[in-house]
Amino acid sequence: MQHPKKEQTLVIIKPDALQRSLVGEIIGRFERIGLKLVAMKMVLPDEAFVEAHYTLDSEWRRVTGEKTIRSYKEKGKTPPSEDPLEITASILERLKKYMTASPVIVMVWQGAHAVKIVRKLVGGTEPLTSDVGTIRGDFVLDSYEVSDGDTRSIRNLIHASGSVGEAEKEIEHWFKKGELVNYHLVQDHILYDVNLDGLLE
Ligand code: ADP
Ligand code: MG
Repeated sequence: MQHPKKEQTLVIIKPDALQRSLVGEIIGRFERIGLKLVAMKMVLPDEAFVEAHYTLDSEWRRVTGEKTIRSYKEKGKTPPSEDPLEITASILERLKKYMTASPVIVMVWQGAHAVKIVRKLVGGTEPLTSDVGTIRGDFVLDSYEVSDGDTRSIRNLIHASGSVGEAEKEIEHWFKKGELVNYHLVQDHILYDVNLDGLLE
C-alpha cells in the first residue's frame, strides 16, 4: 500500500481567478500548508472537455442538483426547479461557457489528506456561505441567487476534486502519466520523517 503522503488531488484555477490575478495567492495557500506541487500547466479547454470533466463522476448531476435545491430551501427561497437533473442540465451549459472563457491553470497537489485539506482551504461551492478564511470565502462574493438570476455559472475561482476516486479520474483526464513529477521536497522531511534526524549540527 502506498504511504498516505502520496495522496493526490486535482485543482483548477478557473478563468475568473486568473483574470483577477489571484493565481499566486491561491498557489501560496496550498504551498504554505505543506502540500507538494507535482504537476502544473495552463490549458484552454474546449466545451466538450469541460463537460467530460464534470461528468466523470456519474453521481455529479444528481448530487449538485440536490445541493442547489437544499441551499435555496435553507435560505427560505424557492429553487429554480424541484428536479435535480433539470437544474444540473442548465448548470452544465453555463459551466461550459465559464470554463472556456479564458485559460485555466491545472495542477496536481500531493500530501497527506490532500483531497480533504484542499477542499477545506477552498471552502463550500457558494461564496456567500463559504467560511471566512477559505479561498472562496475570502476572495469572491457570488451566490446561487445572483448567478441563477443572471443565468450564468456561480463564480467561485477554483475547482478541487471532491474525493480520492474523483481525483484519480480527474488527474487522468487532464494529465498524461509523464507530466506528473516524482521528486523530493526538503520540507517533506519535517512533515513526514519519523525521527527528524540530521537537524542538529
Ligand atoms: P464544487 O466545485 O464545490 O465541487 P459542484 O461540483 O457541485 O461544486 O459544481 C461544480 C461547479 O458548478 C461549481 O464550482 C460552480 O462553479 C458550478 N455550480 C454548481 N452549482 C451551481 C448552481 N446552482 N448555479 C450555478 N453554478 C453552479
Ligand atoms: Mg465538484
